[in-house]
Amino acid sequence: MHQPLVRSLSCLLLAVAIPALAADKSDKKTKTAEAEVPAWEQPQPAVEKIDYTMYARIREEGLQHSHIMEYASALTDDIGPRLTGSPNLAKANAWTRDQLTAMGCVNAHLDDWGEFGMGWQQLNTWVRMTAPDTAVFIAQATPWSPATNGPVSGEAAWVNIQDDKDFDQYRGKLAGKIVLLGEMREVPPLDKALFDRYTEKELDELAQHPVSERAGQDMQARLKAYLQRTRMADKIAQFLADEKVAGVIRPSRDGNHGGGSGGTIFDDNGAALGRTPYKRETAVKVPVVVMAIENWGRVYRLLQQHVPVTIEMDVETKFTGDHEHGYDTIAEIPGTDPELKDQVVMVGGHLDSWIAGTGATDNGAGTVVAMEVMRILKALNVQPRRTIRIALWTGEEQGLFGSRGYVKEHFGYAAPLTTPDQQALPEFMRQTRPLELKPDQKIISGYFNVDNGSGRIHGIYTQENAAVAPIFAQWLAPLKDLGVTTITMRNTGGTDHLSFDAVGIPGFQFIQDELDYDSRTHHSNQDVYERLQPGDLKQAAVVEAIFVYNAAMRDQMLPRKPLPHPELRQQETKPLPGVFPGAVEK
Ligand SMILES: [Zn+2]
Repeated sequence: MHQPLVRSLSCLLLAVAIPALAADKSDKKTKTAEAEVPAWEQPQPAVEKIDYTMYARIREEGLQHSHIMEYASALTDDIGPRLTGSPNLAKANAWTRDQLTAMGCVNAHLDDWGEFGMGWQQLNTWVRMTAPDTAVFIAQATPWSPATNGPVSGEAAWVNIQDDKDFDQYRGKLAGKIVLLGEMREVPPLDKALFDRYTEKELDELAQHPVSERAGQDMQARLKAYLQRTRMADKIAQFLADEKVAGVIRPSRDGNHGGGSGGTIFDDNGAALGRTPYKRETAVKVPVVVMAIENWGRVYRLLQQHVPVTIEMDVETKFTGDHEHGYDTIAEIPGTDPELKDQVVMVGGHLDSWIAGTGATDNGAGTVVAMEVMRILKALNVQPRRTIRIALWTGEEQGLFGSRGYVKEHFGYAAPLTTPDQQALPEFMRQTRPLELKPDQKIISGYFNVDNGSGRIHGIYTQENAAVAPIFAQWLAPLKDLGVTTITMRNTGGTDHLSFDAVGIPGFQFIQDELDYDSRTHHSNQDVYERLQPGDLKQAAVVEAIFVYNAAMRDQMLPRKPLPHPELRQQETKPLPGVFPGAVEK
């Protein structure tokens, strides 16, 4: 080719290639720069793409063709209470796995979160007074109580130990006795409805974020009180065992609005003796029951009047293994978008419950709502862009064990300190090392949890994640007619979304109507199918399905808060140095 021509051609080519190369290079640079920006920090759209057709389809499937109450009856009436480690919970794990497979989810399996402790179940419990009068009492065994090995009868004795100085007055005097342990409490008249729904005014208030004067200052005091309480509980349990009492009867605590009366008994770790009665090494050695306050009060008043009382009780319980493992039920609807299918949206709630009822509102409700979400999406043959994963946790009631175990295994962990002072605390209260994250912490867009009873959804807690608020506001606008109106920046605690929040993954709990949850059903013998409100549960499944669907379909992952620093938790805010001009050197 003609030299000058070649030259000009090559120059031309160069003139063309260099900027193209440069453009390609900068393109690559932006791409890598973009790649380095975490997906959840990508710019968020001002306006969400709302798929109104899908909203309508999910409403129709969830409100007109619901299966939620079938799931609820099978879980509560057929399987029953699901204490962690118990045979019933093993049944529930298998049943939920198989139901999720049957509705078309894939990869349904049980995820082992490690050794929990003892398996236990209550077979039968009765308590009666035989003198001065005969009376049948309302009582049940407390979780992990040993058996009486047949009916035992004994003289009733009131024992009230609040601190160390109280032990001596009872030492050597309680052998063979049936001990009424604790204090009589006020039993207020039921002058307010036990069943409650949010008013608009209350929802408006909830949307405000009050700044507590003492924010952060209570931690130490709460820790101290917790340590004192649990230390005493362990000591009392050992003392009563050493005294060889025949049995222990605790008064049921109260519920909101006086709900802890009229035959309702709350039977959970608060009723059990000892901090970790589910571990063989700290097992309770004496049979313990919790009794209706009216029955407990009758015996208490007689003893106050020095009237001899004889009680007969039979606690028939069974330990089904000392080293039971805990399992979470996991299943998926796979993502279909090549770009996004490896990202995941999670939904769930805890499957375990306490024992006195059938764990219907806590947390059968959150379990069947999450199952119904998956059923609705499968029934509509939704092709989510991101994978949708359901998780039904266990061990929640003992300290979020199932969700914390899963998060530790897959996303990240802040190892608790092991210094002697920290060892005395339960793991979730301990100071920790800095958070160590795992690669999959990056792929979870968000986790949605239901665990506040059977009430319908009115909105969502953003856990102080300001960036999601405008997104959620657009998602719930078309649901106003279903009563979904409220977004609050507040945190809400005490359940499994916290395990995700702790490693920087957006975890959310919904705002639900209170109904008779804290007043009557939460951890009580009244926590049964009849306390579930079908209309509320259908509504909750529709709302949660829409949130999960939107999160699975939008282009961006949900925005995140700054990464938490658990190692800084509990550190008191120290006064700033040099603030007081008049301060003299010490
Ligand atoms: Zn719960």
